[in-house]
Amino acid sequence: MTQTALPGAPIIIAGAGIGGLSAALALNQAGFPVHLVEKAPDIQEVGAGLQLSPNACAVLDLLGVLDSVRQAAFQPERIRIRSGTTGKDLAAVPLGRDARDRYGYPYLVVHRADLQNALLSQAEKNPGIDIRLGASLTRPEQTPSGSILCHVESLHGDDMLEGRALIAADGVWSRLRPYVRKKSGARFTGQTAYRATLPADGLPPHMLRDTGLWMGPNAHVVHYPIKAGRELNVIVLIKEDWQEESWSGRADRTTVMQALSGWYGELRDLVERPDHWLKWALCGVPASGGWTNGPIALLGDAAHAMLPFAAQGAAMAIEDAAVLAQCLADGTANVSRALKAYEAARKERVRKVQDLAARNASIYHMSGPLALARNTAMRMMGPHRMAAQMAWVYGWKPPKAAARPPLT
Ligand SMILES: Cc1cc2nc3c(=O)[nH]c(=O)nc-3n(C[C@H](O)[C@H](O)[C@H](O)COP(=O)(O)OP(=O)(O)OC[C@H]3O[C@@H](n4cnc5c(N)ncnc54)[C@H](O)[C@@H]3O)c2cc1C
Repeated sequence: MTQTALPGAPIIIAGAGIGGLSAALALNQAGFPVHLVEKAPDIQEVGAGLQLSPNACAVLDLLGVLDSVRQAAFQPERIRIRSGTTGKDLAAVPLGRDARDRYGYPYLVVHRADLQNALLSQAEKNPGIDIRLGASLTRPEQTPSGSILCHVESLHGDDMLEGRALIAADGVWSRLRPYVRKKSGARFTGQTAYRATLPADGLPPHMLRDTGLWMGPNAHVVHYPIKAGRELNVIVLIKEDWQEESWSGRADRTTVMQALSGWYGELRDLVERPDHWLKWALCGVPASGGWTNGPIALLGDAAHAMLPFAAQGAAMAIEDAAVLAQCLADGTANVSRALKAYEAARKERVRKVQDLAARNASIYHMSGPLALARNTAMRMMGPHRMAAQMAWVYGWKPPKAAARPPLT
């Protein structure tokens, strides 16, 4: 594909998930008109909760949505890491005030719908962002003039859109990814996530203060408050061989309880509470594959879906959005080169975060003597070294944020 320069032509985004919505806001803020095309008839929440580390919050602040997200979110005091089998404390990563002091931004836990609604209502306020719901974007082609032409298929009939670039933010099972890279599609990781939410009433108070992380053989459990502390989100991550392209397969409590048989009573009591569980197979997309082809670029999970074991998938999509907008603003005269600059700026960091998540998978699920060695090492580290270990992830700032005063 050849490169293009089309002043004034819009940028087309496929997918209005967290990545696509963030990209629409960032690109529009950088002066580009945007067509945002989403195949679902309405913006749906996928999964229930999300941890938003300070690196993601720094971008949300730039996009003007941090305040509304913060109102619906909760700021946990720490990540409390315990043994799933004995319940003993192993380590803690301080968050709360510590995160705000260290990074200038909070560490939030939030319901996905609250984040998506905040991004969507900001986008809807903006006449420069044309949002089309219930429409699937397909078959992008580059025109002789270098623009990109896409088919938009919907129940109301088909349409064509022309733009200076196409950003494929169409998620882990991206149908647009083959237009950028022929190989390295989504691969099942051999892990399944089970999730449920439950009312906060009657839960032990520490569960409503902290993010809880329980590690055990072949599984781990994460829980944190959402809906400003009124509900608890529980995720049980299990090594198993089930796969389906869905964010919301039905699951039953018995499977979850069986995977945690012999685990600590307090945790089993928690997992026994919810009546409804959903599950999804965790897939990965290697960040090392190509991210761009001429005026087409991948963003978010379409480029680099990862295990959620560092709680960074959405954060990386949000970071992508800020860098993409900056690269396109700096390089309007040559879109393909600007997109290459975006790929170069993002790839190494995302690859490192993806590796961290994969490493956490084997650390969290250890058993026998390896688990004992891990527990001893974690106990010796102490909270400050635990926090310092994450500074390269949480301390990242978007290109323009350096000039802005940090939040208090
Ligand atoms: C169990 C679990 C827990 C997680 N926890 C965290 C966490 O705590 N913190 C964190 O940062 N991340 C977390 N993540 C990761 C995070 O959920 C994802 O990385 C993030 O949602 C990816 O956003 P996205 O916009 O790239 O893709 P998606 O959210 O998948 O959005 C893609 C959108 O594209 C649309 N679409 C698809 N094809 C087309 C098309 N052809 N035309 C138009 N629209 C199309 C889809 O309908 C969808 O709306 C977690 C993931 C899992 C599975």
